Amino acid sequence: MSDLAIVDVGVSYGRFVAVRDVTLAVPAGTTLALVGESGSGKSSLAHAIARLLPPGTGLTGSVQVGGRELASLRGRDLRDVRGRVVSYLAQDAMAALNPVMRVGRQVGEVFARHQGLSRRESAGRAGDLLRRVGIQAPDLVARKFPHELSGGMRQRVMIAIALALAPEVLVADEPTTALDVTVQAEILALVRALQAERGFAIVWITHDMGVVAEIADDVAVMYGGRIVEQGPVRDVFAAPAHPYTRALIEAAREQPDTAAKARFLTIVGQPPAGELPSGCSFHPRCPVAIDRCSTERPGSRLIGEGRHAACHLAG
Ligand code: SF4
Repeated sequence: MSDLAIVDVGVSYGRFVAVRDVTLAVPAGTTLALVGESGSGKSSLAHAIARLLPPGTGLTGSVQVGGRELASLRGRDLRDVRGRVVSYLAQDAMAALNPVMRVGRQVGEVFARHQGLSRRESAGRAGDLLRRVGIQAPDLVARKFPHELSGGMRQRVMIAIALALAPEVLVADEPTTALDVTVQAEILALVRALQAERGFAIVWITHDMGVVAEIADDVAVMYGGRIVEQGPVRDVFAAPAHPYTRALIEAAREQPDTAAKARFLTIVGQPPAGELPSGCSFHPRCPVAIDRCSTERPGSRLIGEGRHAACHLAG
């Protein structure tokens, strides 16, 4: 399995810049959680890594898996890497699955389309895969339609599809947000077990700090389209260096129920929409801002082993 390297990635929709100068590394077999409020740019970055941005979106910088550049791929080359090199796990399994196709067929189609297997061979592989993602009686489940399954079962089917071609990188875009706490814990445990077995790298998008603590080795915090802090989860949680990270962790502690936290993770003030504020883009909401914060943008700098933060006061 290969490492994922993201270098100076930017994403823009016309004049609106959603992601700016993002550089991250995710070694094979590890999980990076990408965390931030709605509108922080994390989903745009996820789509950039999975090469699922809508046509006409501006993508700059480099997205490499095992040294292979994905950012410049087009057409058939791009279709060829989707699912095989990088795979995407969506939040809304109901929307992602075909409502009028039995789930076994949907899983089997991946093998038929990408590996040219016969319908019978594909069905056999689909059954094996459904069993591997913890679905009891896979033959029975394979004959059902998506609406006949529970939310947790649908997400297991989505995981089966995402991992069918043994990708090197899995981009998981808040896949447990709609699930209750118990089912969420089961899905996180399943993904961790599959990662330990297969060794793929994961980028897990979330706004739930409880999920970050559960699943990730490293965390990168996004604000205004930039990474404002990154480092090993344990170190960042023990001593967050950026005031925004501190606010996210405090907000999560005030909402101990995971499901509520996922819905209501809020801190004082509004995240920037459109034009960014001058200087540090967090300064209008920052409780410890100093004079230079409104005029001078802090660059990201090393503040400890494997840790970076973009704040004048960090370190
Ligand atoms: Fe707050 Fe200033 Fe640090 Fe920005 S640079 S997070 S405004 S202290």
